[in-house]
Amino acid sequence: MSENLSIENILRAPMRVGRVIPLLILSAIGAVVFTCTVAVVEYENNQHMADVKGWLEHSHNVLNVIQTQGQRLDRVGSSMQLYKLTGDDRYLGNAQTSAAAMRVSVENLETLLRDNPSQSQNAKELDTHVDTLAHVLENAKGSKEVPDREIRSIRSALSVLQNDERALLNQRGDDTQRAMTRSLVLGIVFLGLSLVVVVALFIVLIRDALRRRAFEEEISISNDNLEKTVEKLKRRSADSVFLKSSRDELQLCVTSLEAQKCTARHLQELLPGSRGATVILNNSHTLMEILSTWGEPTALSDGCALETCCGLRTGRARWRKPGESEIHCSHFVDTPPDNYLCIPLAAQGETIGFTYLEFPTEEIAQWACDRLVLIEEMVDLASMTIAALNLRAKLESQSIRDVLTGLFNRRFMEVALERELHRATRRGSSLAVLLLDVDHFKNFNDTFGHEAGDVVLREVGSSFLQAVRTEDIVCRYGGEEFVIILPEITVEMAFVRAEAIREQISRLRVHLKGQPLGHVSLSIGLAMYPHPASSITELLRMADHALYDAKRAGRNRTAIAAETPALSLKNEH
Ligand code: GH3
Ligand code: MG
Ligand code: MG
Repeated sequence: MSENLSIENILRAPMRVGRVIPLLILSAIGAVVFTCTVAVVEYENNQHMADVKGWLEHSHNVLNVIQTQGQRLDRVGSSMQLYKLTGDDRYLGNAQTSAAAMRVSVENLETLLRDNPSQSQNAKELDTHVDTLAHVLENAKGSKEVPDREIRSIRSALSVLQNDERALLNQRGDDTQRAMTRSLVLGIVFLGLSLVVVVALFIVLIRDALRRRAFEEEISISNDNLEKTVEKLKRRSADSVFLKSSRDELQLCVTSLEAQKCTARHLQELLPGSRGATVILNNSHTLMEILSTWGEPTALSDGCALETCCGLRTGRARWRKPGESEIHCSHFVDTPPDNYLCIPLAAQGETIGFTYLEFPTEEIAQWACDRLVLIEEMVDLASMTIAALNLRAKLESQSIRDVLTGLFNRRFMEVALERELHRATRRGSSLAVLLLDVDHFKNFNDTFGHEAGDVVLREVGSSFLQAVRTEDIVCRYGGEEFVIILPEITVEMAFVRAEAIREQISRLRVHLKGQPLGHVSLSIGLAMYPHPASSITELLRMADHALYDAKRAGRNRTAIAAETPALSLKNEH
């Protein structure tokens, strides 16, 4: 598994993702607290601004009242000037009315300035002066005097009031300006901080989304790998089941041919659509013969030399594929196919042959390529089984066969004879035993040497094999004596066959290193089962007696066991 997909990474990823949630909660709480604080500060600022605005209006009212008082005072002064000049009472009346209005306004002014002790005091002084003026005007009928002193006092009082109120107005204007500036700064700070928080949260969320995506990709890759691993394990498990069943079946095989056929069957099952063959080295280890095939492999030649196969030359599985390996094996009689695989069959250091696999399509070739390890294991198994079966056959053959002639040995003859006697009894048929002895065999040894004697024995043995039927059993009994068991035969036929064998041997011309070894002849003793011999011992004893008779009668002849009815005579030459 790759580093990215390590268990640690997979376990750490949710932790990294999990850290974002507390961060988001903290950010949300911070944003709420910050917004509330800003709202409270802004609310207080607005309240303050509203108050200041009220006070500004208040100051404007006060100044308006003061200004009105000033205008009324001007009217009193001008009316009194006109009264002084004209003596018209109407002008005095006007002055008195204005003074009365001033008294009312001063009371209003006092009410307005009640909250400001300094201005309240100024207003009281104005009130006193206005009262004094009003009183002077009430008594001014007929007087030609203008109350300038009172008017100046009032003007002075109004001026003080006006100046103080203007100072207050300026101060309140400054307050309003400050409150507005504060509100503006607060707004900008709030906006800035909000932007910072939004950008920070955006970054956190983007990073979180990216991490989540990366984590999901990791999980997806990990899932894919997991699926592949499960698939691989499933295939491996199926492969091992397949290999086990192949091994079980191979173990049941008793001959090399059976094992080869079994391997071919399993390879065909493993690689549907493929073609193939098992090609085995012949007994003389010179040529390779096709022993079993499936799917009709194209143009594969039978009986090719060992070195024609590139796989055998390299000693390992060799795939011929277009674009990868262009050299062809030469075990083809026609145009070789494009895709084929040769796997040597070898065990215990010995080459047995090779398994040939041919793939008609690229898909089948790819399928086989994916299972190359299994195919090689399968072929290895087959090689070992075939080698073991070959070895067993060799050992068996060595234990039942005579080394010099290759015929069955005496031990096998005894077993075979017992089996054939049982079979004859069961079937109600008769069986003949021929005991054959080479005449004057000692002479070959004495004249030409022991090697010459061996050559004679070998030649006689192979002549026997050519003269008998497949169901007949030819054995070397010992020395220069042989036994031939002829199942399901009458005495007449047995005699004819014995004579035929004898005549064939008498025609035999044996040479050693180009030197003729002379004439070879046989004496044969014939005995029949179940009559007259009724057991193995009796059968062999009677055959021996008949042979003795044949020898005594001059050799190179067949003698039938004496007690045998009908044909008690021997054919003499
Ligand atoms: P007869 O016609 O009476 O059978 O005479 P014979 O010479 O064939 O019989 P004999 O029993 O006198 O001689 C058999 C000889 O066969 C004796 C033995 O040395 C020889 N012999 C036995 N086994 C072998 C063998 O495996 N190879 C060789 N070369 N000689 C053998
Ligand atoms: Mg003998
Ligand atoms: Mg002899």
